Amino acid sequence: MIKPAAYQNMYAGKILDMILSNGFRIAAIKVLNLTSAQAAKFYEVHKERPFYNDLVKSMTSGTILAAILEKENAVEDYRTLIGATNPANAAEGTIRKYFGESVEKNAVHGSDSDENAIIEASFFFAELDRV
Ligand code: ADP
Ligand code: MG
Repeated sequence: MIKPAAYQNMYAGKILDMILSNGFRIAAIKVLNLTSAQAAKFYEVHKERPFYNDLVKSMTSGTILAAILEKENAVEDYRTLIGATNPANAAEGTIRKYFGESVEKNAVHGSDSDENAIIEASFFFAELDRV
């Protein structure tokens, strides 16, 4: 996902360019506005965390871009490409280093395991949306 602040700041093209030039294939893509209930469900694993309500609010503050990315070793390689959760700690050359404003507005989401990638992909996309 490209998060609302990054999308609103017109970073989607640059972020997708980094993703494509690092060997990922886009298997599905769309822009949408999440409802609070949808954002709350997506981030349900974090519901006991102190930042949960702010995170849900932030993710519903504007349009997001959701995509399914494919590559050998996609989860690990994508997490390397995006960098640390807090952009202040993200390595040079990473998406969060370039485009993140804060830990909450950290430009992009990435799945943390193959298992969660499958769950998250089917949260946003139907089988027929994929190529
Ligand atoms: P990641 O997105 O790197 O997988 P997490 O799964 O731990 O990170 O957290 C999910 C999202 O919650 C983060 O991308 C970030 O936007 C937000 N978040 C995480 N930790 C904090 C925090 N301490 N304060 C505010 N927001 C946070
Ligand atoms: Mg995570």
